Amino acid sequence: MTTLDIRERWSPNHGSRGEAPDIRPLNMLVLHYTGMQSAAAALDRLCDPAARVSAHYVVEEDGTVWRLVPEARRAFHAGVSYWQGERDLNYVSIGIEIVNPGHEWGYRPFPEAQMAAVEGLCRDILARHRIPPYRVVGHSDIAPDRKADPGELFDWPRLARAGIGLWPPPDAALPRRRGRGVGVVQRTGGLADLARIGYCVSAETEQVALAAFQRRFRPERWDGHLDTETCVRLREVRLAVEAAQAAEALRRSRFTRFN
Ligand SMILES: [Zn+2]
Repeated sequence: MTTLDIRERWSPNHGSRGEAPDIRPLNMLVLHYTGMQSAAAALDRLCDPAARVSAHYVVEEDGTVWRLVPEARRAFHAGVSYWQGERDLNYVSIGIEIVNPGHEWGYRPFPEAQMAAVEGLCRDILARHRIPPYRVVGHSDIAPDRKADPGELFDWPRLARAGIGLWPPPDAALPRRRGRGVGVVQRTGGLADLARIGYCVSAETEQVALAAFQRRFRPERWDGHLDTETCVRLREVRLAVEAAQAAEALRRSRFTRFN
């Protein structure tokens, strides 16, 4: 593991994580892309008091890491957000902005130096905070009606191989028919899986939540259409989430018993 070289440029845009006894545990990691034309423009905006936005860290394409907000403070990165029944996720999360022009300015692959730095930074954060794998998310997972970052080119499988977040490898033995619609029963099951994984699922958000799921777990096509392949993938991810939640519950019960 390479040592992290973190530069500091403090943003004024942060607040309290809450007042005792109502402080929620810090147990979530949210990954973003900056979606601006340059790293300098993104850093300027994230540090501009008038913009009222920020993140704890920014990772440039050459791998340079900036710290903008102390982890003990609440950065303003997630906005209106929802995951696994919980809202206002800035209170419980650390936010990392990854420099990329995004879909508006010429979305492009994340370079190796940048991914290595993201991986190192995430490892470092996960070593210091108890963040379960099913609570490492993209901005589009928690705000699918407004956001598409970090997007379909982001290498989630690589991070999962390094122990960061969940990305179960697709089971090649299962039938997958992309583009074909599914019946009512399969559709109901698919949407239940989507909600169980953590997405906000209602009549209004169903299609955008499906597209967010696809960007992350089936990135070849993110049309928000519930086809057979998406249904199969939803079940795989749901099972991975449930297995990780069971492991986390076991760990917590052991911790309570012996401490
Ligand atoms: Zn974002």
